[in-house]
This record gives sequence, structure tokens and C-alpha cells, in this order.
Amino acid sequence: MNKNPPASTARKAAVSAVILFLSVFRFSPAASAQSLDQLNNSVPAVEIPLAPVPGNATLYTAAPGLNVYFLSVGQGDSIYLELPNGQNALIDGGPSKSATGALAQFLSQKKVSKIDYVVLTHPHADHYKGLQYVFSAITVGNFYDTRMDNTAATGDEALRSQVKALGVNTFYPAPGDDISWGPGGLGVKVFNSCPEPVQSSDGSIINNCSLTIKVTYQNASMLFVGDDQSDAEARMVARFGAELKSDVLKVGHHGSPYSSSQAFLETVMPKKAFIEVGKNNYGHPAQSSIDRIKAVGASVFRSDLDGTQEFSVDGLSEPVEPSED
Ligand SMILES: [Zn+2]
Repeated sequence: MNKNPPASTARKAAVSAVILFLSVFRFSPAASAQSLDQLNNSVPAVEIPLAPVPGNATLYTAAPGLNVYFLSVGQGDSIYLELPNGQNALIDGGPSKSATGALAQFLSQKKVSKIDYVVLTHPHADHYKGLQYVFSAITVGNFYDTRMDNTAATGDEALRSQVKALGVNTFYPAPGDDISWGPGGLGVKVFNSCPEPVQSSDGSIINNCSLTIKVTYQNASMLFVGDDQSDAEARMVARFGAELKSDVLKVGHHGSPYSSSQAFLETVMPKKAFIEVGKNNYGHPAQSSIDRIKAVGASVFRSDLDGTQEFSVDGLSEPVEPSED
């Protein structure tokens, strides 16, 4: 239950004023991450009012605000989000459909029995396999997918058949669409996808279909680009330009040298870059990519070296105008 009743308007305004002078960013690295200490120093010691939770939403014991976990799941992507309104989301499931896999263990520890919003960025096994576990073991409210059919695999059809049989609401958003993840002040916008049916076995073509979303909350923003490569990056820069600017970047394609192009990075200008990567034979992450990311001033975190990383935004301050656009 919510033990902290909503603060009075006056008190909330006072808290907001303090917060606005400090950073609203709060980083809680799960493992080693030396440079985050400076940001942790900005966490104010104030009582935190919890956001009201909708009656039908999943309730967690997590801190209020937005909590994003870049999970260490080996070679693959899986990002879990606790939303300000008490709901939750999962972007990709990583490479294991095992009930003893890293994603399953994380969700078990979190006592997650329902996920409100699940995203499959694109139909490669290192992204969809874990979702086969999720749809088998956990109630899912809504599913966001592309219409890219990976003809080199059958697992994507298996997953989609599973979703259809369960009758889960499925959406195929297009670039430019806004997605609603419930009340609570969260913005979700789509920058890349393949909403029309297309078939391919070509890895690059499939990667460049990655359902790409930007999540904004308070004055923080996060861009999740799946396995986008330079083609998709160039498309997004041409169409959306400065709208791509984000504080946090989930680095494209596990740090592949064919992603994270200079022009894209100079448009996004991330402060923090999270690479989801494990043991692999592709040379991920490439030093050339890491160098380009660092060249725009971002700190780089790797799930293989640093473990699961958490990025949180306190839900304390009143909404503010986007800065530095
Ligand atoms: Zn991948």
C-alpha cells in the first residue's frame, strides 16, 4: 500500500524548487561504475511522495519515478522499465527462453507477474527468445511489434503465434507515432519501425527495422534503438533531427561498428550510453564505436563488464520545459 499520502501542493512546490536546483537524475549502478558517484551526490534527502497508482495497475515496491534496468542477459538486449504510474514495460527479452535464464531470474526477484507493455524491436533471436518465456509465464497487457518477418528463423513466427493465441493487444506503430503508456506524464514516441509487411533474411535489413522509441519523463530522455545500423540512423536524423536528442542512449546493435555513426551521435548527444553485450563472435562492441560514443562526451557502460545497470529519474519535480533543444 501507499504509505506516503500525496504531499500538499505547497510542500510539493517547495520540494520541486529544491529538485530543480539539483539534478533530477539519480544513477544507481548495480556494479562498478566510478563516474556515477558525482551524480549520486545530487540525490536530495527528502521524503519521496509516491505517484498515485491506477486501480488496475501492477504495484511494485520500487522507488517512485521512472526506473530503467539495462539487464545483463549475455549477447542480446533486454531492458525493464518501472513506470511512474506503477505500471511496467519490457523492451526485448534477450537470448534465453529458459525459466532459469537471466531475464526470468530478474523478473522473479522483482516478483513481476504482469507486464503492461512489451516491445519486440526486431525479430532476431537475441531479442525475441526471452519474450517466449515472458508470454509463457507472465500476463502481458500490450505488445508492440514490427511487421518484419525474419525468413531465416522460425522463432519469430512461433512467438507471434503465441501472442495471437493469447489474444494480447498488438500494435504496429509507425515512425512519428506517439504511444500511450498510461497516465503519469511519460512520453513515448516512435522514430523507426517497419509497420508494413516485409520479409528478409538479411541481418542488416532486419536490424534497420528496429522499433525505436524515445521515452521522456520530467526533463530526462532515453532513446532505445534496438539494433539500428547507420541506414536507420541516417533516416531518423534526416526526418527527426534534434527531436532525437536524448540524455541516455541504449547503444545500437551491441556496439557494432556499423551502428553509432558520428552524425547520429552528434544529433542524439547522449550523456550516458549503455551497451547490451555478452560473449560473441562478432567483435561486439567495436572499439571504433566506443571511441565515437566517447567523442560526443558520453560515459559508456557495458552489461558484460558492469553487469545490470539502473538509470532512474525521481518523480519529484513538476514537469519542466524540455531543455537544450
Ligand atoms: Zn541483437
